[in-house]
Amino acid sequence: MKNKDVSMSLPTKAKVVIIGGGIHGLSTAWKLSETYKNPGDIVVLEKKDTAAGASGIACGVVRNNYFQPAMRELMAHSVSVWESDPKAFKYNPVGYLQISPEVMHEDVASIYEQQKAIGYESEFIEGEKDCMNYMKGIFDDWQAQGITSILHEKKGGYAFNKDSIKALENKSTSNGVQVMKGVRVTGFKRGSNSKAVTGVETDKGTIDCEQVVIGAGPWARDFWNMLELPKTANIKGKDGKMHVTDMWTYWMLQEGVIGVEPDFLKTNDGKQPPVVHVDSTAPLYSDKTKKLITDKIWGIYYKPDIEGLGVQGGTSPYIVKKHFDKVNVDPYGIESPEYQTTDAFSEMWCSALAHCQKRFEGKSDLYRKGPSGGLGCMTPDSFPIFDRFFENVYMIADANHGYKMIGVGELVAKEILGTESDLLKPFRFNRYEKGELHPTSNSPFPWS
Ligand SMILES: Cc1cc2nc3c(=O)[nH]c(=O)nc-3n(C[C@H](O)[C@H](O)[C@H](O)COP(=O)(O)OP(=O)(O)OC[C@H]3O[C@@H](n4cnc5c(N)ncnc54)[C@H](O)[C@@H]3O)c2cc1C
Repeated sequence: MKNKDVSMSLPTKAKVVIIGGGIHGLSTAWKLSETYKNPGDIVVLEKKDTAAGASGIACGVVRNNYFQPAMRELMAHSVSVWESDPKAFKYNPVGYLQISPEVMHEDVASIYEQQKAIGYESEFIEGEKDCMNYMKGIFDDWQAQGITSILHEKKGGYAFNKDSIKALENKSTSNGVQVMKGVRVTGFKRGSNSKAVTGVETDKGTIDCEQVVIGAGPWARDFWNMLELPKTANIKGKDGKMHVTDMWTYWMLQEGVIGVEPDFLKTNDGKQPPVVHVDSTAPLYSDKTKKLITDKIWGIYYKPDIEGLGVQGGTSPYIVKKHFDKVNVDPYGIESPEYQTTDAFSEMWCSALAHCQKRFEGKSDLYRKGPSGGLGCMTPDSFPIFDRFFENVYMIADANHGYKMIGVGELVAKEILGTESDLLKPFRFNRYEKGELHPTSNSPFPWS
């Protein structure tokens, strides 16, 4: 069954309707289509195009480095899915470096120990001198000071964002999935005796169905609202008391590209480098003006740009200070008139690159100006929610952790087919009310 565009008629019914043509919608469609094989069983609805959302602008980094045990186990599973077809997914298994200051040492040491326990290959280097030597062994111009631990994950790396989504689309459609593009979901049809959804309403008509899966990334809020779910969440704190918080918070992800030669970031032995993530408490000075940018903990990550435009990466996101219902998610990504990275970002990121590696000194002007970055929709604890609502609506709200989580679709498909996943259980919505929250780390990023 081939992809369909707007002009083609919308089916009137399906077994499963999946909303969203990103990493989660399409990986769920792919895995579910291995069981639901009849043409018309599975329909994916996408308002624009596949990879039109966050999955198509993601930096593409795939890592395991998480302080939360449940996140690490989930990522280890996803890495195995990336490894199942690296060619189709354009997955580069170059590894990943988490380079940290002393305040994060203990947290990262525990990540290393737990990676060993789950058989996820990594190396841990401790002490300022050994860290410097280790990094100089990879990049001879390494110069970041005050680094006291390095976690070198031998698996993971990065994949090409749009190509991997198109590969998932191909895998799905060749199993009979119908991917309908240019179809915007507007609401849900409910049964008369229960709250279960009996159909999905769109701007092109209604599709009756038995099961709905929502993989809407930054648009998770819209579907939450369509389902009339609560605008606040009750969270049981460590003090045993209930705290009320907004259900969603938008964050702006800051990323960009510095226009250096494609081979600029090669290692001493001429190989492709691992993805580099550096957190630091060293004062950060502007590479241009030499003025202090920050004396607080900061972090950056970088890797070769997939289009060969230079080196791509980012820094920690900032919170959009508006109620979530007031945030304009559309137009999204580089088309957004409101949410774009700023000059302050490029100065910080380029200066941090120069702080880490001499080869970037004096290169800030090569930063490629233009729209970049995008919004992410965070849950109350900034970790994903994978859960069923109203009996037959499966919500994948990944709190912006998700391009790397290509394996979640397989686990969601299994849950839909009746087998509960131990890997997904820690991400149920009722964890808030139960106070079963994931531990938090000392990283400057909300997702580590
Ligand atoms: C700048 C940036 C960089 C990132 N970098 C990384 C990274 O390096 N590694 C990583 O793991 N994660 C990264 N992320 C996070 C990751 O991109 C997201 O968590 C993930 O892509 C979300 O996938 P999704 O399938 O849920 O949503 P999306 O990919 O956003 O897909 C949702 C789709 O739903 C469609 N849609 C929305 N509303 C409707 C409607 N009403 N009807 C029909 N269709 C609709 C949209 O058009 C969209 O295509 C990054 C995010 C951003 C913004």
